Amino acid sequence: DMYPFRNAVTVSHMMTEPYARQAHVLVDMTCGNGHDTAFLARTMPDDAVLYAFDIQPCAIERTRQRLQDEGLGDKDVRCRCGSHEQLLADVQSDIDIIVFNLGYLPSGDHKIHTNCEITLKAIKIGLNKIAINGIIMITAYPGTEAGACEEQALRSFLQTIPQQDFHISSWQPVNEVHCPPVLYIVQKRGKRHYEEIP
Ligand code: SAM
Repeated sequence: DMYPFRNAVTVSHMMTEPYARQAHVLVDMTCGNGHDTAFLARTMPDDAVLYAFDIQPCAIERTRQRLQDEGLGDKDVRCRCGSHEQLLADVQSDIDIIVFNLGYLPSGDHKIHTNCEITLKAIKIGLNKIAINGIIMITAYPGTEAGACEEQALRSFLQTIPQQDFHISSWQPVNEVHCPPVLYIVQKRGKRHYEEIP
């Protein structure tokens, strides 16, 4: 890739790669067309488990198809159709990597956008289940009204998380004419016991 700095998704992949290489449990919260799922499946060790969630059956189908097409059929990828905050609640703790790619399915129904409240709920569950040193990568799309609202709420929420528990930062292009996606990077700090995030 000649331009890994071109957008939030490519930067997210570049930053996630060294962690994915050593991960045991990974979750793609919004598998959509399966690009992120395929990237994670390709990068993770053969004995790792990757959960891929989406609320739309067509997204689950497209993700399964992409995994087949890319020769990743032998990887342990568990695709589940449903709302991600519920599906994440069923996954064991100590997840190494959680990826959110918010917004709508580009080649699908643009009205099915991630829901601000559900997104925050899912992120809170993620904060409680992520392993020490584990990372949560969130790509948000402020270019639409729903996306702007979600990005704002997300930012406000992340600003309240104590820095002794998590390092949280963001990345965004500065010279784009439209309102480009923003990447939030969350890493859990070690050992100290922290209280559950309500
Ligand atoms: N990661 C995908 C890829 O690589 O192709 C793109 C994801 S797309 C930007 C956002 C996805 O979130 C859509 O496919 C949509 O169906 C899904 N979604 C929206 N609300 C959801 C929810 N509550 N639970 C799970 N998935 C949801």
